[in-house]
Amino acid sequence: MTELLSELRPCDLALIALGANLGDPRAALRQARDVLADVGELQATSWLYRTAPVGGPPGQPEYLNAALSLATPLSPQALLLALLGTEALSGRVRLERWGPRLLDLDLIGYGQRALHTPRLTLPHPRAFERAFVLAPLADVAPGWRHPLTGERVQDALERADQAGLERLDERL
Ligand code: ADP
Ligand code: MG
Repeated sequence: MTELLSELRPCDLALIALGANLGDPRAALRQARDVLADVGELQATSWLYRTAPVGGPPGQPEYLNAALSLATPLSPQALLLALLGTEALSGRVRLERWGPRLLDLDLIGYGQRALHTPRLTLPHPRAFERAFVLAPLADVAPGWRHPLTGERVQDALERADQAGLERLDERL
């Protein structure tokens, strides 16, 4: 079905950031990758990164972060529902903002679309501030430009604070 739809119209690429810091983060990220491969065609996957927590309560464990790009016939809104559903499948419960989580899936960008609704903002409002998002994103889409500022992912990464970021020798 994905093939049929992609013949009808070219898909905008969706850029998705993955993160986890509870349970078995590696397994959670890879399970999410496999679920997402069912709602589109995976274009690229990043390296895995071990990163220090940013914000949230003190003393939470380190995160594992990654990113992927996906060509999908789903609208951004439908894709967000798929991301939230996948988080729920992993057993995530929302207790506190930026608290530890089994799985966090953020829609960083969808082609060059910009939108702001109560449930979905594109591009993700904090995407270009955080090295833990930018480093994996630069593996899959270094030349993608922020639709509002025009800045490239690779350039944003170079100016970001990369302290506490360690690239592992393993891909998502
Ligand atoms: P964060 O990822 O900032 O730590 P959450 O994962 O708890 O926060 O997300 C809270 C809400 O953010 C989600 O329920 C979702 O509706 C909303 N949201 C808005 N824009 C986006 C986006 N681009 N990607 C993911 N979630 C988004
Ligand atoms: Mg999130």
